[in-house]
Amino acid sequence: MSDFPYADRFTVNRVLPERGRSREEVLAELREMAQAEDPTWETGKVSGTMYCGDHEHYRFLDEAFGLFAHVNVLQRDICPSATKFEGEIIAMALDLMHADAVSDGEPAGMVTTGGTGSIIHALLAYREHAAKHPKKRSVARPNFIKPETGHPAFDKGCHLFGIELRRAPIDPQTTQVDVDWVANNIDENTIAIMGSACNYGYGTVDPIPELGELAVDRGVGLHVDACLGGFVLPFAQELGYGDAVPLFDFRVPGVTSISADNHKYGYSLKGASTLLFRDKAYRNAQYFYLPDWSGGKYHSPGIEGSRSGGLIAAAWASMVQLGREGYRDYAKAILQTAFVMQDAVRSHPELMIMGSPTFCFAFRSNEFDIYHVADAMKAGGWRFNGQQYPNAIHMAVTRPQTQPGVTAAFAADLDDAVAYAKQKTAAGEAPISAAIYGGVPGGMTDEAAQFIEGFMERMLDTQQSLPPVS
Ligand SMILES: *Cc1c(COP(=O)(O)O)cnc(C)c1O
Repeated sequence: MSDFPYADRFTVNRVLPERGRSREEVLAELREMAQAEDPTWETGKVSGTMYCGDHEHYRFLDEAFGLFAHVNVLQRDICPSATKFEGEIIAMALDLMHADAVSDGEPAGMVTTGGTGSIIHALLAYREHAAKHPKKRSVARPNFIKPETGHPAFDKGCHLFGIELRRAPIDPQTTQVDVDWVANNIDENTIAIMGSACNYGYGTVDPIPELGELAVDRGVGLHVDACLGGFVLPFAQELGYGDAVPLFDFRVPGVTSISADNHKYGYSLKGASTLLFRDKAYRNAQYFYLPDWSGGKYHSPGIEGSRSGGLIAAAWASMVQLGREGYRDYAKAILQTAFVMQDAVRSHPELMIMGSPTFCFAFRSNEFDIYHVADAMKAGGWRFNGQQYPNAIHMAVTRPQTQPGVTAAFAADLDDAVAYAKQKTAAGEAPISAAIYGGVPGGMTDEAAQFIEGFMERMLDTQQSLPPVS
């Protein structure tokens, strides 16, 4: 793909055009781009990202979105429906996470614009809650502990809010957090710790009951990041995969907040996630008030100001249209597919699955660089996400993989890819995609990090710029 897709097909708008174009013409251009892009994932060969993949469902969501896309949910007098949508999304998510088991708080939540939004609001809530309850926790220099596998959104939030981030190591076999390390690194400035259900890289679940015990014992918060697993793992438990998925929700004492992404396995539109709290004191600690502003008395429930009613309406519509039954059926097909794909991986003694994953799994090899496998699979249209330290690739199974024929294609292509990897390794050749996705040989250094950041900066710059004038 070129750095500037479509530059050769459509006018590049370097200035705001003096005269507008017809709606039909604009829509035709948009349709052409969408139609060029959708086939890349419709095959079922792309990990994650298109969680539902059902165009009829998308059309339904688009209609729900369209009815409220133009309203600002900050102004409830104009869109009272937003209160119904937000209240019910939160209540339904709390129900899914067994908030009924909570006897030591008043469960509450908020709807955010994505997983990162939920995570950074949780961090802000813990920081502000600690600041408002100084007797419970000193907050001279707040810190937060995440397993190394915790999502970068925790690093981002800590960076934004001046919170020191401590990264706990994981067990290389299970890929779960070292709970003793966490215990030894909690101090009087620790506002909270976290565990994933499941993490993005390996799809494994941290030992949440043990972390919960620790959180209760030491009087710190515990966030469970179920951004990825929140709408699948509760159904995995119901479907009898309980051994693979230990308790991670509000039934675990000490779990004080949970994030679950509506825009992943909640099957809603991008831009929606739910953040739940064991007790509303956490949520309310980060409410923002400015009662004396000359522009009028101001308050907002989170970081954003104006928000679209459309995304909230679509998230609500997805939940009530699917219901528990719909989510359970989807989870069942996804889990069955994932385990068939994992069996295909296990049929190769050269490949190793990391930890005990469910719907999202990563694998690596001791015999060759796994990016050789990624290279061969890429030629067949497969798109995995890459891990490093150690090099691994992962597949987050979504509904497009549950189509007939996808698991058989995966197994056959994987056979060929393993043969390719052996052959390239014997020939002493380095994999192509390792340079982008794999770890720096010998480990990360300051120099390597600087080089990679420079590359990333140029890429981000390009993604927000125009093609050069030819
Ligand atoms: C996707 C994801 C996030 C962050 O979500 P965004 O929606 O990309 O902001 C956080 N945690 C996990 C485990 C995720 O998979």
